[in-house]
Amino acid sequence: MLDQRLLDILVCPECKGDIRLEGDWLICEKCRLKYPVRDGIPIMLVDEAEKLDEDQES
Ligand SMILES: [Zn+2]
Repeated sequence: MLDQRLLDILVCPECKGDIRLEGDWLICEKCRLKYPVRDGIPIMLVDEAEKLDEDQES
């Protein structure tokens, strides 16, 4: 699990806004993006992010 202090200093690389932890993802509500956490390491790269709405598109 991610350290809360680490979480506090992490921001979305796209909008520099706050992010929240949800399972193995760090979520930016503003950009509707989720960033993966791999082996406890947050991957704060827009290229690695997935869209939050992706599952609902069909
Ligand atoms: Zn953002």
